[in-house]
Amino acid sequence: MRKRFDIAVFDGDGIGPEIMRPTISLLRQMALDGGYELTFHHLPAGAAHYAETGKSLPCASLDAARRADAILLSAMGLPSVRYPDGTEISPQIELRKALSLFAGVRPVRLVPGQRSPLALPADREVDFVLIRESTEGLFHSQGAGEVTETEARETLLITRETSEKLFRFAFGLAAERRLRGRGPGRVTCVDKANVFRAFAFFRAIFDAEARHHPDIVADHAYVDATALWFVLKPWDFDVLVTENMFGDILSDLGAGLMGGLGLAPSADIGTDHAVFQPCHGSAPDIAGRGVANPMAMLLSAAMMLDWLGLRHDAPTVVEDGRRLREAVEAVVAEGAVLTADLGGRATTEEAARAVMDRLAAA
Ligand code: ATP
Repeated sequence: MRKRFDIAVFDGDGIGPEIMRPTISLLRQMALDGGYELTFHHLPAGAAHYAETGKSLPCASLDAARRADAILLSAMGLPSVRYPDGTEISPQIELRKALSLFAGVRPVRLVPGQRSPLALPADREVDFVLIRESTEGLFHSQGAGEVTETEARETLLITRETSEKLFRFAFGLAAERRLRGRGPGRVTCVDKANVFRAFAFFRAIFDAEARHHPDIVADHAYVDATALWFVLKPWDFDVLVTENMFGDILSDLGAGLMGGLGLAPSADIGTDHAVFQPCHGSAPDIAGRGVANPMAMLLSAAMMLDWLGLRHDAPTVVEDGRRLREAVEAVVAEGAVLTADLGGRATTEEAARAVMDRLAAA
């Protein structure tokens, strides 16, 4: 079993450093107890760094991230700091492109006791994963759209190469989830193939990949109907895979089902690299007060342990990923120590401490 892992850390902007700090303390403790080593390298990037230096993601930071075993990233960007064209600083999107992180993995889980705008029937549990293609789609022309006095154009790009990798990843994930008793082994391609030729192309590549996985159920859904079903019967899904912009929107809907952005983790995964970060932004409206919810960051760290452990044949690390996720879920379901976004009064540190205590007691 591999025992030492180098982690590149981007502390980010706004609440970023506040939620990263307890996450690293907790990871250090888990590694110490589990007999493996995590080395953290803090790298500069983000909106505050851009305001100071004119660079949002310095080459040295990108190179160090490339060399690391995994990348842990907090929230980045500030509405008050922008590029000359008016768009926000988003090194996380630059990283996705630079490291070809084509699979944006967004788990949606709702366990008994967890507050949600949905009235979940008592016998139902929600546990699905939305995979958002993260390097092309409608984000392809980001920053390069054509705007004149009279019209504006952006380009949606779907490539065979990326789609094949994406669908292979989705079927692999469905098989792995089934092995762990999570999901029946089903992948749903979410598109708009009835209207756009690009999505008919996307769907045809999906169908071709599905033929290599006869043991996994493959089906399709239109994105508008999927939004409806997210609300009406979210327990029906297992793995969903979709284009970048559709995934961007659906993943926030998924976060809403879970009770808010403060509980939504994510991973952007490629063939050789992966970034783990919460779905939420830097929340400048609450930054500096120590009240941000650290759970999405902690759940993202749990996904990192799972990915590292599976990749490097380190079962203890995989197991720690599961323990961390379950500890967060237990604290949230119990509801005694919650931050304000979930209706509680706990500080960031208190919420993270409750997870730490739960781990120690398990
Ligand atoms: P981005 O576009 O960068 O994703 P955003 O504009 O969607 O960001 P966020 O920064 O995610 O916005 O914040 C949206 C709302 O959710 C804000 O009111 C913010 O305070 C709240 N929020 C986001 N993350 C958290 C968190 N971890 N804890 C508590 N509240 C949060």
